[in-house]
Parts: sequence; C-alpha cells; structure tokens
Amino acid sequence: MAARTLPNMVITGTPGVGKTTHCELVAERTGLKHLSVNEIVKDRECHEGWDDEYQSWIVDEDKLLDAMEDMQVSTKGGFIIDWHACDLFPKSWVDLVVVLRVDSATLYDRLTERKYPEVKLQENIDSEIMEVLLQEARESYDEEIVVELRSNTADEMDGNVDRIEQWLKQWKEDNAGGA
Ligand code: ADP
Repeated sequence: MAARTLPNMVITGTPGVGKTTHCELVAERTGLKHLSVNEIVKDRECHEGWDDEYQSWIVDEDKLLDAMEDMQVSTKGGFIIDWHACDLFPKSWVDLVVVLRVDSATLYDRLTERKYPEVKLQENIDSEIMEVLLQEARESYDEEIVVELRSNTADEMDGNVDRIEQWLKQWKEDNAGGA
C-alpha cells in the first residue's frame, strides 16, 4: 500500500447526476484536486477516437491509468476523481467511492438541457434506474468505502459536500502517519 498522506476519492454516477459540480465544491472546500477524467482523456489523448453516435471519446483505459500514474495519483493522493465509471481504477488507489443518485425525471431534464442525443439520453436514464453505477462500485470496492448520496437539489448537494469534508477530516486523523 502506498504511503499516501492524502486520500483519493472517486465521485461517480450516471452523466448528469452532479459529479463535476460536487467535485468542484469539494475541491474548493478541502484543497484536494479535481481530476476530470474527461479532460485527461481529451488532453492526453487517452482514447481510440470519437464515437459519433454517443458523442464521446472511446477511452483507452491503459493509457488513462498510465497518465494518472504520471500525475502521481496512487503515490501522492489528494485527488477527487470525476468519472462515470469506477471499476477501472485499482482498488489500492481509492479510499472512498461516492455514487451520486438522482430521480429519473430530474435526470431527464438535466440531460435534455445538455442536448444529449436521444439514444444516449435513454441509455443513461435506464442506467440510473437500474443502479448500474452503484452495482459497479459495490462489485469493485469494499462495501465500507462505497457511499450512495442523493443529488436532486442544492440542499442535498450542500449536505453531501459537508459529509465528504467530515470524512476527509476523519481520514486525516486516522492516517496521521500516512495510509
Ligand atoms: P455530471 O458531472 O455528473 O455530468 P454536472 O455536475 O455537470 O453532472 O451537473 C449537471 C447539471 O445538473 C448542472 O447544470 C448542475 O448545475 C446540475 N446539478 C447537479 N447536481 C445538482 C443538485 N444536487 N441540485 C441541483 N442541480 C444540480
């Protein structure tokens, strides 16, 4: 296990649940770094091209993990990883997995606003209803580090950020000598 002096967390969930908004708030509040996987994939070309139908990059996971290693994610820690999947990150990198959840009507509105293609919109709503990301998180990590949080309203988001901040405080106390 790496002797990280700061933990890493993954904030995950179906597109539109509020990952980026949460990550930005948590970063502001805690000083941890917001690591947008989307931006790394784009900027460091960790992809095998563009999928026109889904309007998204086809991610090359090996390249992505190498890029994250270069950023010292596993050794230094202190990152809030923002991505709509979580099973690709090695268990040893991750100290907390937050799965954001939202009601399907709210998700529909958010994704419509984003002008998602119909096929992508429907798939994401189905995925949220079927709890795909929650299952993925539970299958990939120890259950005690997976937390499911609601993200329908600004109040819920505030409460979530408070909770994550508290968790970080506790982690620092528990790991005063490094992870
Ligand atoms: P994601 O990164 O998961 O795709 P975003 O953070 O981009 O989601 O959020 C999608 C949209 O929903 C944004 O317009 C954001 O302001 C809004 N939003 C996200 N979470 C909440 C929330 N808890 N309450 C109200 N609006 C939210």
